[in-house]
Amino acid sequence: MIEEVLPNLYKIEVPLPRNPLQAINSYIIKGQGQSLIIDTGMNREECMRVMSSGLKELEVDLKKTDFFITHLHADHLGLVSSLATDTSTIYFNQPDANSINSGSPWEKNARFAGINGFPEDEHKKAIENHPGRIYSARGRLDFHIVKEADTISIGDYSFKCIETPGHTRGHMCLYEPNKKIFISGDHILIDITPNISLWSDDENPLREYLHSLDKVYDLDIELVLPGHRSTFKNHKERIEELKHHHQTRAEEVLSILEKGNKNAFQIASQMTWDLSYESWELFPPSQKWFAFGETISHLKYLEERRKIQKETQGQEVVYSLKE
Ligand SMILES: [Zn+2]
Repeated sequence: MIEEVLPNLYKIEVPLPRNPLQAINSYIIKGQGQSLIIDTGMNREECMRVMSSGLKELEVDLKKTDFFITHLHADHLGLVSSLATDTSTIYFNQPDANSINSGSPWEKNARFAGINGFPEDEHKKAIENHPGRIYSARGRLDFHIVKEADTISIGDYSFKCIETPGHTRGHMCLYEPNKKIFISGDHILIDITPNISLWSDDENPLREYLHSLDKVYDLDIELVLPGHRSTFKNHKERIEELKHHHQTRAEEVLSILEKGNKNAFQIASQMTWDLSYESWELFPPSQKWFAFGETISHLKYLEERRKIQKETQGQEVVYSLKE
């Protein structure tokens, strides 16, 4: 369960039951005195059990432990509210802290979902069962805000903060230039394509994400330590694959619109998804919700690049190819 990836740097696989991601990687760095935990797991019993026994085995004292959280999603941030003590510093980014402090996003995106064609009853079900809502951090968290190029030093390691918006508005990675390791959160994963979703009209997360990929491409990295699944080398090759994936998806959206104008939900229903259900109708509402968010991020990207246009017809937003 515990793997020593590098001297004094350990990986604990924290299970995510009934979740296609299976587990989240929490990285623990032991310094002299102070330790650092990077990402934590969801705020649920199953995560806490594995984390506690792992920390016990590593003899990590939570009273002398700080945290770095890559982004706001519950599988990374959720458990920090149970692990942090009065003496812990929790390093976090400003944009995601703002999202948390601005309250529940679920009501806000109900309207956005509605005008983009997501059926109201299914939206309700998707939100009710959303793990991000059920297993999020509890109570007020006091964050120590870090930004681009800030350093976090622990033991032999000196990490540089790298802002990588896209997967979330404030997603942040850690780079250790001497050891050439890169803690990637959900920015680059080896056998999963990170979810890039849009939930409000004033953002273009896919554009940001592609830009963040280019930024990381240039770094001198020997080993990537991702938020899920195994560590990997060859980050440049993986980044090229991810960019290619988004290119293919964009082309798929355009070819769907060639057959006629549609709303975002209709477009999502016609895209190909790597899921084991026989038809779109059989997708659980939560999966439709993820698919829908990804589709809209592509629509926004294509709209800004002037490949497509959108028009509000009554209560509905409809997309078409740009003439
Ligand atoms: Zn995430």
